[in-house]
Amino acid sequence: MTEGTMTEMETQGDAEAKARATLLWRCWPDGKKWCPRCHAPSPYALAEGRLRCGACRYTFHDFTGRWLNLSGLSPAKWLNLARAFAQDANTREAAERANISYNTAFKALTVLRLAILAQGTDARQLLGAQTGLGDLFSSGKLCTAPEAPTGDVPVYGILSQGQRVFVDMVPELTAESVLHFNHNFHLRVARLGHILITDRYKTYDGLVLCGDDRLPYHYLLRHQGQPFAESGSPFWLYARDRLRHFKGLSARRFPLYLKELELRFNRQGEDLLPLFLDALCAPIPTPAA
Ligand SMILES: [Zn+2]
Repeated sequence: MTEGTMTEMETQGDAEAKARATLLWRCWPDGKKWCPRCHAPSPYALAEGRLRCGACRYTFHDFTGRWLNLSGLSPAKWLNLARAFAQDANTREAAERANISYNTAFKALTVLRLAILAQGTDARQLLGAQTGLGDLFSSGKLCTAPEAPTGDVPVYGILSQGQRVFVDMVPELTAESVLHFNHNFHLRVARLGHILITDRYKTYDGLVLCGDDRLPYHYLLRHQGQPFAESGSPFWLYARDRLRHFKGLSARRFPLYLKELELRFNRQGEDLLPLFLDALCAPIPTPAA
């Protein structure tokens, strides 16, 4: 082994150790550990960094039950990927910068988007049955969910408050209601692929949804003029162009992109990396009983 490769290996090892320390600190800010299953404090240490809960006997490690653990990425790769994503890299660029395959990056960015969405006050609703997002992971693993959720297509409302925007699920509405408003109450609707965006509705700048081929798009009626959101909602103008470029946009994954864009829109000019790392290091919420 030459001197050069030796130094390179040491540097890589250093990078991993540093990245691990960064993530550990975000998982356990005060250094006090607890059981991810029963929350009992002071687990005891086993070999190879494993921990065991004295109360329920659960064996775990430092990242068990956290979002970042849904992917097999090493801490340094996670950090590189999250940094690239914070700098608005697309999946291909982020994969290159983390030195991983496109598919691995796509899956890891799905985890990061889930983690971002889980930070919101509406997380429980978005991870619930109506979106089918909860099917993307279970028992600490990312899953291949069935192609499309089979229930009604959920509808999201865009709400502006000054410079900020909130994108919330409107649980009492479905895609069917939007088509009904379009037909019977002349609610203006524009189409962008599988996405529909409406004119103002109640306090919302517009309602937005992403369906699939089961939705009768041909049934839409055209009305004079563009919906308000198409010309007057700064968030929608920002989101629309980005949504066009997302690969893998589907009815199920749509809220992941909406919540990512909501965060990016509200935090323009800010360094998103600390937020992303905190999200990744947060415990995965347990499904509502
Ligand atoms: Zn326990």
